[in-house]
Amino acid sequence: MPRITLNKANFFHNLDVIVKQAGSKEKIALVLKDNAYGHGLIEMATLAKEYGITKAVVRLESEAKAIEKLFGYILVLGDTPTTPGKNFLYTINDINAIKKFPAETEVELKVNTGMGRNGISLLEVDEAIDLIKKQGLILNAIFTHHSCADELNGNYELQKKRFELLKKRLPSSLHFHSCNSAALFREEDFCEDMARVGIAAYGCLEVPKTFNQYSFKPVLSLYASKNSTRMLDKNDCVGYGATFCCKEGCVVSNYDFGYADGFLRSCSNHYQTPQGVAIAGRISMDNSSFLSDEEELLIFHDARSVAKFANTISYEILTSLKAHLQREIV
Ligand SMILES: *Cc1c(COP(=O)(O)O)cnc(C)c1O
Repeated sequence: MPRITLNKANFFHNLDVIVKQAGSKEKIALVLKDNAYGHGLIEMATLAKEYGITKAVVRLESEAKAIEKLFGYILVLGDTPTTPGKNFLYTINDINAIKKFPAETEVELKVNTGMGRNGISLLEVDEAIDLIKKQGLILNAIFTHHSCADELNGNYELQKKRFELLKKRLPSSLHFHSCNSAALFREEDFCEDMARVGIAAYGCLEVPKTFNQYSFKPVLSLYASKNSTRMLDKNDCVGYGATFCCKEGCVVSNYDFGYADGFLRSCSNHYQTPQGVAIAGRISMDNSSFLSDEEELLIFHDARSVAKFANTISYEILTSLKAHLQREIV
């Protein structure tokens, strides 16, 4: 079985760095959506609780249910209530959705300041607040999400300005939050009520070189076990499509980590492990071959480096890792 190890010391180190930037543990809402970015929802929620994190963010109500007892505040980003817990808060992403929420539901209103994805228009905020009142919902906070917190193109400042203007004219009894990881660490002087932190906690935040850099440590490593080994002669080939052929005799082993486990197939033929072990041929559904005969192979310990091979971002590498993989806290 391929196995994931979760490095507790690295996770706590990242949380230390985040607490320092945010000002306190209470200002951190740890984003645990999508199986805690592939790390394992229960594992990461339990560690976060042990550290003293009190707030969590998830996508679904079912995820909130699974961690209901661990946090006092759980923000659900993309779901409507069916069996709400009393510590659940639900996001309103669209003004027409307000009527779907039963009276007494605690909600947060997401506003679109320039991301152009979810959230109600800035012009509809007053109408939305009215509708929320009429529906008998309890409005806890107004929040927004940045499209360019990790990019230098002016959009970050524009969205920030729009959100600041909105804050100024709304009652200060409401809470406000806008920062993901990159935005929190872009701020010199963070002063909002809360930041929604995902990737930095998992140790894979990447921001442009001109931004302040912080020393996060990746939490997740992935190991695969050997299924079989063979000696191949010159011109022998490996895997579907015979895309890798030996230039001279070589030792090739097959390992039990494939695209059905979350190894992106675009890593085929050119991936190298952190120890410089090269992949041989295409990644299959349940396995992949490497020029190695080690019993257990470290596939990666930093999703950012895999992302470069797959031409994607660490978020996709991590969330691709399937729930069936073994996870162990070390
Ligand atoms: C996923 C998500 C975050 C976390 O973003 P990171 O870049 O991982 O810190 C924050 N807010 C919202 C609304 C999200 O969907």
